[in-house]
Amino acid sequence: MFYTGLVTAAAPLLSLEDNFWSNPSFRLVLPRGKRDRLAERAAGLTWRRGCSVAGCRAEGMPVLLVDSELEAILCPVHQLVLLDGSSVEGEPMLATAAW
Ligand SMILES: [Zn+2]
Repeated sequence: MFYTGLVTAAAPLLSLEDNFWSNPSFRLVLPRGKRDRLAERAAGLTWRRGCSVAGCRAEGMPVLLVDSELEAILCPVHQLVLLDGSSVEGEPMLATAAW
């Protein structure tokens, strides 16, 4: 489950925003080539993006799937979807731009 909005007191502890609010005791380590490609793609992401699911007017957060290096959107309604509107299963590792 992914959360794109601000976390409130009632929200579960696991959220994307946890990265901003706490200091995890680890760092993710990526191969240099993958890191450089993700950095290059992340630099091209926009701040907000409309959901790619037909008929959905929600605004989502553009992200990159770290494994496949594909762009996807975190929609508050549809969760994680690819740019063609298909949903992404599981809980893949995500990256986004450091705006
Ligand atoms: Zn949507």
